[in-house]
Amino acid sequence: MNESLPVPNSPLPFADVAVNRPIRPTYTYRIPPALAAWVRPGSMVRVPVRGQSAEGVVVRLSSTSPTPDTKLKDIAQVLTPEYAIPPDLLKLGEWMSEYYLAGPGEALATIAFFGLTDQQSRTERLLALSEEGVRVATSQLLKPEPDASSPEPVRTDGPPPVRVTAKQALVLRALIEACNEPLAPADLRQRAGCSESVLEGLLKRGLLMEDRRTVERHDAYGGPITGAEPPHALTSEQQVAFDRIIAALEARRYEAFLLHGITGSGKTEVYLQAIARTLALGRQAIVLVPEISLTPQAVSRFRQRFGDRVGVYHSNLNRGQKYDLWKRIASGQVQVLIGARSAVFAPFPRLGLVVVDEEHEHSYKQSDPAPRYHARDVAVWRARQAAAPAILGSATPALESLLNARPTGEGHGKYTLLELTERAGDAVLPDVRLIDMAAQVREQRETSLVSEPLRQAIAARLERHEQVVLFLNRRGFSNFLLCLACKTAIRCDHCDVVMTWHKAIGQLMCHFCGATRPRPAECPECGTPDPAAMGAGTQRIEEDITALFPEARLLRIDLDTTRGKEGFLRMWKQIEDGKADILLGTQMIAKGLHLERVTLVGVISADHSLFLPDFRASERAFSQLTQVAGRAGRARQRGEVLIQTFVPNHYAIQRAVVHDAHGFWDQELHIRQMLRFPPYWRLLLARLSGPEADRVAERAARLAHLLRDRQAHATNRYRSLTVLGPVPSPIARIQDKTRWQLLIRGQRPDLMRGLMLDALETFERDKARAGVSLTLDMDPMDLL
Ligand code: ADP
Ligand code: ZN
Repeated sequence: MNESLPVPNSPLPFADVAVNRPIRPTYTYRIPPALAAWVRPGSMVRVPVRGQSAEGVVVRLSSTSPTPDTKLKDIAQVLTPEYAIPPDLLKLGEWMSEYYLAGPGEALATIAFFGLTDQQSRTERLLALSEEGVRVATSQLLKPEPDASSPEPVRTDGPPPVRVTAKQALVLRALIEACNEPLAPADLRQRAGCSESVLEGLLKRGLLMEDRRTVERHDAYGGPITGAEPPHALTSEQQVAFDRIIAALEARRYEAFLLHGITGSGKTEVYLQAIARTLALGRQAIVLVPEISLTPQAVSRFRQRFGDRVGVYHSNLNRGQKYDLWKRIASGQVQVLIGARSAVFAPFPRLGLVVVDEEHEHSYKQSDPAPRYHARDVAVWRARQAAAPAILGSATPALESLLNARPTGEGHGKYTLLELTERAGDAVLPDVRLIDMAAQVREQRETSLVSEPLRQAIAARLERHEQVVLFLNRRGFSNFLLCLACKTAIRCDHCDVVMTWHKAIGQLMCHFCGATRPRPAECPECGTPDPAAMGAGTQRIEEDITALFPEARLLRIDLDTTRGKEGFLRMWKQIEDGKADILLGTQMIAKGLHLERVTLVGVISADHSLFLPDFRASERAFSQLTQVAGRAGRARQRGEVLIQTFVPNHYAIQRAVVHDAHGFWDQELHIRQMLRFPPYWRLLLARLSGPEADRVAERAARLAHLLRDRQAHATNRYRSLTVLGPVPSPIARIQDKTRWQLLIRGQRPDLMRGLMLDALETFERDKARAGVSLTLDMDPMDLL
């Protein structure tokens, strides 16, 4: 429990504080003498802002103040005084706030390991015998039972004997038997078979004393480590990749590696061995994984290699647990931090390696709140700052990363490409077959969601006691109610999206705002009775499969069935224990799972994600199909993948079938270049929203006008940029708020930002700005 508190700072009287608000400037505060010892750059503080209290981070101390001293306010409180954001992460905050156009306080609130909060260790109350208690216990309880025949009480030297009740004696005895090891009250009560009041009585008499012990708040990933997986001898491809990474590591040189390895090619093994070398050099490693692949199975591979040096950071940790994890980092116990997005902010003193697994995953981008950062890009920034290598691994890298890894042209060889083209061990890539659903409908008069070939394939697997994975791209955009007369789908009253029919609860639900409503008896547009349930959600497939294979044990894994703190972990346990024959799920099951017994993967429909109004739709579809296919035949038996689709000739599907990643990329990159989309061009998205449709449209037009006006007046400076829009967002309304958007397209982020800030200076001074909110998103992933 010896907290290492900071040494008092040289008493500079003022502090510049970045307040956690969407504002750019910092405010200056006086440091009251009582807090002087605690305030340093990086300290988290509470300060008054316009009559309210706000949290912020001290970014620098100064000896002078820009305003007269008398006008300044005092810092009110230092939050978690023993913690301060270290200097390298303060720098990161500066960069994030600039690049992503967020307030510096917003950026630092994101970086702070457990948020801008006041935290303490949790302690536990323990009881032990006091000195007096020991004396009484030993003198009375340990001496031989008084001889019944002896009329005289045994005389002892020293003070007269203290009388204790029989119950109290049991407590003293229990503690003596435990060698006076402090015990939790509950434990002690149980051992002595007594009530709380007996303990209180002994405390009051001074025979017991209290002790406190720090208890660590662990979570489900912190259990005992079982099994061990010794390092594999690397394959020659792995060795080549490993050697390149280690060369940078040992030279303490920044280099970003794009590790493109097909599913099961042993990327994780390369990470593990690179981390082992990092630790041997006395440095630390960050491993980012998408939240959904933060399975106990994945984590345990790391814990088996590195034991308690591994810490796990995920969004379900509460702030107290995060604080405890920080303490283990600060004490040097945790040297490898695995986690989702925000683990990238791990305050390691000697960061030696950063790994981003599944680097193409969209969940690395924070969409709300600001700063809307991309954790992969932040990871690369941190690696560069720490003069350390970064490994970005994926079977289907993002086109942004691929372009960066091309030695010439736009990417300028920013990343080094490393490739693993073969599966590790004896596993081979699965056979992938397309099922043309249009043909099924024509020829077989097939209307079921599960075609005959898929049905037969499932039956064969069940007979052989092998596992089947069935995949449906999205839980939304399917299973809606459609009026067959006027072809109107039932939409949410508050959002411009089609509602999803949830049969289990007998309600339509909006997947944007959560609004529900009962099934209407007739079409709200034309009055035709009984709109039909269309499309296939996971629930509908579950029903069909259960009807087809009543004996099979089916496990449905989607947002609805895995809600709650440890929902996914519980599901996972069932799979691992072999309590499921068929796993049916959304993209949640598309990755991370490593199941030896899965020999068939069925994709119910490849088409949903292809037809979203988003220029990344093909990339996403290709990536999902490739990842899902990778679930099959991870072990000795060759796996099979069946994909049902209405558009079997689409290039994304065709390329996925023949495992031709390079072919897909060439084609897709060409299209992006022609259309002037990312990764060749960058986008800065400005989205306006508010309850009054007219006002939102008007403000959007105003911002577009200001941008074009500034561009025209800035003599050539912004000539390379294009302002696109404004247009209503593809989802034009969410939660009763109308949404409009516009884009700045360019190749230089500094110019894009410069133009936007120029326009905002006037835009934000407009009188009529209430009621319309503006969000800015650099490198947006979500254009809907
Ligand atoms: P990826 O991360 O690319 O999907 P993994 O690292 O999970 O692949 O490796 C897939 C399987 O192959 C794992 O069971 C792993 O233990 C095994 N494996 C990895 N590298 C080797 C190797 N060099 N020799 C034998 N087996 C290996
Ligand atoms: Zn809604």
